[in-house]
Amino acid sequence: MLAPRGLKWDASADVAIVGCGGAGVVAAVTAREAGADVLVLEKQPERSHHTNTSMAGGLFLTPSDVKGGVDYLEALYDAGHGMLWTDKEIIRVWAEYAVDNKRWFEARGGSFLDTAYPAEYPEMPAHKTLARYRFRGAGLGLGKFLSELIKAKNIPVMYETPAAKLLTDLEGRVIGVEADQRLDSEVKKLRVRASKAVILTCGGFEYDERMKLHYHKVYPTYFTGTTANTGDGIRMAMDVGADLWHMNCVAAQVVMKFPDFPVAFAAAFVPGPRLSPLPDASTVRPQDQCGYVFVDRDGKRFADERRFRTDPPRHAIYYEMALYDGRRLVYPRVPSYWIFDSRRIDLGPLPGRHSGPAGPTGLYDWSKDNSREIEKGWIVTANTVRELAGKINVPPDVLEDTLLKFNRYCEKGADPDFGRHSSDLMPVDKPPYGAVKLWPGGPNTQGGPRRNAKAEVLNCDGDPIAGLYSAGELGSIYGMLYTGAGNLTECVAFGRIAGENAARGEAQ
Ligand SMILES: Cc1cc2nc3c(=O)[nH]c(=O)nc-3n(C[C@H](O)[C@H](O)[C@H](O)COP(=O)(O)OP(=O)(O)OC[C@H]3O[C@@H](n4cnc5c(N)ncnc54)[C@H](O)[C@@H]3O)c2cc1C
Repeated sequence: MLAPRGLKWDASADVAIVGCGGAGVVAAVTAREAGADVLVLEKQPERSHHTNTSMAGGLFLTPSDVKGGVDYLEALYDAGHGMLWTDKEIIRVWAEYAVDNKRWFEARGGSFLDTAYPAEYPEMPAHKTLARYRFRGAGLGLGKFLSELIKAKNIPVMYETPAAKLLTDLEGRVIGVEADQRLDSEVKKLRVRASKAVILTCGGFEYDERMKLHYHKVYPTYFTGTTANTGDGIRMAMDVGADLWHMNCVAAQVVMKFPDFPVAFAAAFVPGPRLSPLPDASTVRPQDQCGYVFVDRDGKRFADERRFRTDPPRHAIYYEMALYDGRRLVYPRVPSYWIFDSRRIDLGPLPGRHSGPAGPTGLYDWSKDNSREIEKGWIVTANTVRELAGKINVPPDVLEDTLLKFNRYCEKGADPDFGRHSSDLMPVDKPPYGAVKLWPGGPNTQGGPRRNAKAEVLNCDGDPIAGLYSAGELGSIYGMLYTGAGNLTECVAFGRIAGENAARGEAQ
């Protein structure tokens, strides 16, 4: 929006940053260390502030060398068919910064656990040169570290001040931000002058239903992070002419979602200890073994379920849920059902406990024995498979047949239908039986304003919009295939790049 002539600014800084999550703090700290005067606008109140960053598992994808990082990400970008393309320069710069992210934190007092997990997609070239490291204290620890860091750098954060519009001069250069500052019960328009640049780091569109309907491959989709991420940065960037990219790309998993709670939950199909190594069937402890299947709306299995929780790719499986039946005009797998028996119920809370709303941030206190969620009807239970089928509205004969067949496969130790690994073939035969709806979704969206290797936001001609940068999951560099632990890596890599370049700009 063109700044009104003679506008009286309410505040000013060299660099204004919109959103105080992982990318925002890293950009702010970097710009401040480079000598810029920085101001951060944050939508949420300080006392309840939580971000996708603080709800995350805290895993960072870390290439050991630039070449390995480039080879791996370039192959991933190809998604098998050259479908999605990004500037090679962006991948290179991602790798150059990503190899150094850990050191960036360590130099500022942050630390990581020593155990490293392998990267996803072992079939990609140079896979062995990448590892995933967990920040100490996972996402919550990372969030706390970042909020202490920004305080230590004396960077002002204006909470309860959601940015709404970017303000431009006559040439289209972004020169400031208009926000709606909440003061007690009033909302005041606040105009912030940014003499060097504005950096957008206000997350994705996980909670904007219209955008998800129009941009995602399937609908509905649900997400496991903060409800504050409602696509505001996309609307602001479009208003000043930004091009968009990766709008149909998602860190694509399956989630549980219940109508009376806004945030979705990642499911622990087979539970493990909190902050355990990544869920890999070969590492599941014998005492945690339990049987389960996924069935579609017709009561039929449709996949090797093990792939939904382990490597290879967990972050691509949502695309398998997105199958559309053009004859019947339905998404037969939306929702699907996770079917289990009393063994799983007895093993403890159904959601993953290392991240998300039932994780360390404690947004939702899931009962230890699942009883509260059974009472609420989130988990449907029944003493027979037929009764369960009736309750979830799938054909009883089909569901019964599916489980009989699956249990036979378990006895034989082989799954001829989908080739599920024998270590994961446990029967579902101990009533009461349980069922929960599974939806396409995951941690976050990837789409937003397109950026270049300098983190500049581009217009539809591919030229930078002067004075505007972005970082983080808002217009993430990841395309259709997302690799686990990549988003935090990108927040830090592009937060640093945006902060450096914004601070370097000429004050206008
Ligand atoms: C459950 C979960 C687990 C995950 N685990 C991992 C993992 O282990 N590894 C990994 O790499 N990735 C993980 N991710 C993804 C990763 O955490 C996010 O993509 C990343 O943290 C996004 O950082 P960000 O700074 O872009 O956004 P956020 O951290 O979400 O910050 C966005 C900020 O912008 C604010 N905001 C929104 N709108 C406005 C506005 N109009 N004005 C001002 N402020 C605004 C929000 O309130 C928020 O504070 C996970 C995500 C979730 C939800």
